Amino acid sequence: MASFPTVIKKLMAGFERLPGIGPKGASRLVFYLLTTPESFVTELADMLMALKKEVKICGSCFGVAERELCSICADPGRKKDKICVVEGSIDVMALELVGDYKGVYHVLGGVINPLDHVGPDDLKIVELMERLRGFLNGKEIEIILATNPTMEGEATALYIKRKLEGLAGGIKISRIGSGLPIGASLEYADSATLSRAMEGRRRY
Ligand code: ZN
Repeated sequence: MASFPTVIKKLMAGFERLPGIGPKGASRLVFYLLTTPESFVTELADMLMALKKEVKICGSCFGVAERELCSICADPGRKKDKICVVEGSIDVMALELVGDYKGVYHVLGGVINPLDHVGPDDLKIVELMERLRGFLNGKEIEIILATNPTMEGEATALYIKRKLEGLAGGIKISRIGSGLPIGASLEYADSATLSRAMEGRRRY
């Protein structure tokens, strides 16, 4: 490694910090970029900057948005009395790719994980309760807990369920289920499995 220019080594180290990229993948990307036309590299750099500058957080579901509300929350065709609670925006994307869910989402921004010092207050749980306020006067609402079937995901789902049970009103709580293997994540599940998991959600 000593014989390689510092810029190359630095960029490789940068790529290696990205999820799913090891030293081999990082070197492949660096040498690809080195030989690719400058226009593409400039375009890529602009897109990376735009990602940080232009992507907003939806004021209702906390998913990614271009405006104050994301396109899902702003869509009058989506059922607002069906809220699917997920860990991150990447899970929204996974479920949207399946395409058969017609409700809206609530993005927690992670899961309860004491080892990583993430507690309930670090997630958008209070905001979820706030969001439900409008439904507590007799209106039916379904909350689908779709955190990953990992230890942390289950603990988070259980925590939210207990919180919801404390609220009055017609809240139906369900948990995304069958088909998703324990320890798996929504992000990596194929569409058919996700579709089954959503369809096979059970009373929780
Ligand atoms: Zn939204």
